[in-house]
Amino acid sequence: MCGIVGYTGPNPALSKVIEGLRRLEYRGYDSAGVALATTLSQPLFVAKKAGKLINLENELASDHASAKSGIGHTRWATHGGPTDENAHPHISDSGKLAVIHNGIIENYVELRAYLEKCGYKFNSETDTESVVHLLSEEYKTTKDLSAAMRLVCQKLRGSFTLLAIHSDDPETIVGARRNSPLVVGLGEEENFLASDVSAFIAHTKRALELGQDQVVTVTPNEVNVTDLFGNGVTPKAFEITWDANSAERGGFAHFMLKEIFEQPKAISDTLAGRFNDEGKVQIPELKNLNLGIDRILILACGTAFHAGLIGKYALEEWSKIPVDVELASEFRYRKPVLSKNTLVITISQSGETMDTLMALRYAKELGAQTLSVCNTIGSTIPRESDAVFYTHAGPEIAVASTKALLTQIVGIHLVGLFIAQEKSSLSTAQINSLAAELSALPNKVEEILETVEPLREMTRGFKEATSVLFLGRHVGFPAALEGALKLKELAYMHAEGFAGGELKHGPIALIEQGTPVIAVLPPESSEIAEKMRSNIQEIKARGARVIAIADSSIDIDVPHLIRIPKTIELLQPILSIVPMQVFAYEMAVARGNDVDQPRNLAKSVTVE
Ligand code: GLU
Repeated sequence: MCGIVGYTGPNPALSKVIEGLRRLEYRGYDSAGVALATTLSQPLFVAKKAGKLINLENELASDHASAKSGIGHTRWATHGGPTDENAHPHISDSGKLAVIHNGIIENYVELRAYLEKCGYKFNSETDTESVVHLLSEEYKTTKDLSAAMRLVCQKLRGSFTLLAIHSDDPETIVGARRNSPLVVGLGEEENFLASDVSAFIAHTKRALELGQDQVVTVTPNEVNVTDLFGNGVTPKAFEITWDANSAERGGFAHFMLKEIFEQPKAISDTLAGRFNDEGKVQIPELKNLNLGIDRILILACGTAFHAGLIGKYALEEWSKIPVDVELASEFRYRKPVLSKNTLVITISQSGETMDTLMALRYAKELGAQTLSVCNTIGSTIPRESDAVFYTHAGPEIAVASTKALLTQIVGIHLVGLFIAQEKSSLSTAQINSLAAELSALPNKVEEILETVEPLREMTRGFKEATSVLFLGRHVGFPAALEGALKLKELAYMHAEGFAGGELKHGPIALIEQGTPVIAVLPPESSEIAEKMRSNIQEIKARGARVIAIADSSIDIDVPHLIRIPKTIELLQPILSIVPMQVFAYEMAVARGNDVDQPRNLAKSVTVE
């Protein structure tokens, strides 16, 4: 949550910072602000505005061409409402020092009391403002922003990415991180700092990862990293493989629609190179794991949690190892029993999801082996895991996840096949046939996408509904949960997913005349096909307007039937989820909602 950008170099800092913020706005859009170092030892130029980035852009009359460096922030408020005053950057009393922050300073109350006693005046309700005053207090004695930052970080509790600039040294930006993301982009005589690489991929593909509790000092020609005690650290360099166009909207009305249409490529990129000529599954990244495991535990949040719920069916069936799936946000707050024979798989698109990161650390403390399924190279969760499987969805900008989810499911499936191969719990022939099914998915998703127009039109007919229910069994159940989550996130409608067998245990009471119900049906060969058919009869009898998603093996009489191509039951969610994504997207458009930036949400949830 929250997007952070810093730029130092010969080009106009303001436009570089605003460009970066545009690419990071999906991370938070409660307010936006910039600070520029224009004149040596004079107050910084600062502008900040509540609301979306466009509000700030409308305020910025000139390009401040003399600025040597700049920092910018898009906020997802945790402490204090989304007002101009609470917007970042926060400024020292002299106006010469500015700080932006992502995360939560947990001891801000005591810091604020101490600083107020020292005479500092606070202008906001944020936890962040304590940092700027503390930094200016330390700067008084050190006269060195990096040294002051190290001292400040030693006094902070909680999570933070911080960037600071001081007009005494206008070409320098100092950054620090603990439990929140920060990467350095290495340019030619210019350098960038940002929450993620999409802020600078148009300018450089070379980047540095920063570790926990590190402070980085960046000038146009130099990057220096230390720990909090000033000891030098050599950061890990990496090449960015995403191309700059993938972070643009192209000809699409919204990032989400573009990302829905990118799903065939994202799946095929994630599968690329995973089956060799003899049909063997290749995941060399897992070689460090000891696969003599007796349990798998998947930890994730939100849509990634649904990837885990869906992946569980295949993972368990193929590997013959018991698999549990748990919300990462709940896991730490009970007393789970894990051992070195437990493989914990975390799933996170950004690799920065705070709840998942904390759960991962807890699982490591309890002795488990850890594997991360992640889309963002160099992010914290893969860095702290024993092994990582990277999905290749490319940058996902829309807040509501689509292509990342499908590639996460495929990732879990590949891991399942690999474990089955290593344990010989599936024959080579079975693996070959599953590999063929997986490899056929990109074309099948493409087929669905070629026929979405009637689905979009049908969706608009449900615009006035107050509630939409989703129904499924077996893998269709977590697929239904995902359908409901997408609709909640985007259309702000009451939406719930149910397991078909649970209907009669309560939820059927929700069905009224005209209630829309999206039912996900398995292939006719499934043992639950008949049961789903009965469930549909039960709700139709009570007035539900049923929209069924089914392949052509299913013959059913419902007012709306959405056909998907045939695949095996275990893989079907990768197809059945696509029409539900389109349904949620179109409903949001029809209801006039902001599709890419739904209210109250932000992508990459880096607070607990
Ligand atoms: N806690 C800070 C605030 O509420 C930073 C939030 C963020 O990460 O955007 O201003």
